[in-house]
Amino acid sequence: MIADRQLRDSISGIVAGKTLFDEPMSAHTSMGVGGTADALIFPDTVSELKKLVDLLRREAISFLPVGNCTNLIVRDGGYRGVLISLEKFQRLEIREEIISREFFPEEEHTGNICVYAQAGVSFSTVIELCIRESLSGMEFCAGIPGSVGGGLKMNAGAWGKEMKDVLKSISILDADSNIRDMAAKELRFEYRNLNLPEGTIITGAGFNLTRGDSDEIREKISGIISERRIKHPLTYRSAGSVFKNPPGYPAGKMIEEAGLKGLKAGDAEISEKHANFIINKGNAKAEDIIALIETVQKKILSERGIFLETELKIIGEER
Ligand SMILES: Cc1cc2nc3c(=O)[nH]c(=O)nc-3n(C[C@H](O)[C@H](O)[C@H](O)COP(=O)(O)OP(=O)(O)OC[C@H]3O[C@@H](n4cnc5c(N)ncnc54)[C@H](O)[C@@H]3O)c2cc1C
Repeated sequence: MIADRQLRDSISGIVAGKTLFDEPMSAHTSMGVGGTADALIFPDTVSELKKLVDLLRREAISFLPVGNCTNLIVRDGGYRGVLISLEKFQRLEIREEIISREFFPEEEHTGNICVYAQAGVSFSTVIELCIRESLSGMEFCAGIPGSVGGGLKMNAGAWGKEMKDVLKSISILDADSNIRDMAAKELRFEYRNLNLPEGTIITGAGFNLTRGDSDEIREKISGIISERRIKHPLTYRSAGSVFKNPPGYPAGKMIEEAGLKGLKAGDAEISEKHANFIINKGNAKAEDIIALIETVQKKILSERGIFLETELKIIGEER
């Protein structure tokens, strides 16, 4: 808990936007679970973000950036430290070729179009822009409820494509508090992870897209959205796929074959519709979701010798 009044005032003084102390994260996570964060703070600008992070480092207070919290479980005991929401980082613009010339001066002009999005922009907003401007390349993000920052950190993907496939460059506040850009080729992406030094905060990104046919783009996107509605349990709160797929076999299929569909802990349930989703059927607690995760991991390990790693991130303290 950040109990010191002066420290609270110093933190609030840096940020023009909201500073929420002792904030229940159940109000912010897509799963609807989680204890209180000592603080959830919404800086407006990169310069506010930098000042905030510098203060937190000086005071040795833990911090973590969050986006739309759609891949996040906060344990019921809450998070000791500051969660920094990039929700206010909403700039989204078309920058034809600029990033390409900046980062790849030796390369010929490709004819590609760069869309620059700040970290807090939701994929749904990027998709709306793509439809409006007939831009192709990011259709695979349709229906992913995250933000650009969270999506990049997770190397979010679907339908055989990932963020790394369309990324041109990212803007970051690095672990030494420098504001800088990095070209995609300097980054190390993995399956559902972008490897960055701890403490790095993504503030925005340039995406390499192409002009396409607007009807084709619209059709592709609506096809993806319909498929998601058919396959995913979207009428309940969830955090998307819980486990990463081990090479060669989907985690959901393993869970289904282990007979675990429909398994409950409190109000948390392994979805009958898609076994890699855990849904909140009402008042689930983080501990219920984690209990189901551990049951699945034990069963699949004992039956197949495979440890299913979680895709979603679990942070905070047990109650
Ligand atoms: C219904 C549903 C469907 C989904 N479908 C998919 C899918 O098809 N494919 C897929 O990949 N995912 C999917 N997800 C999971 C999730 O939406 C994605 O992982 C998404 O990209 C997470 O973005 P976010 O903004 O919510 O990140 P958060 O959940 O807020 O954060 C996720 C991680 O990223 C870090 N992070 C967040 N912002 C930043 C930043 N600015 N800088 C550095 N680190 C940051 C956080 O610390 C955390 O570790 C789905 C989720 C739901 C609920």
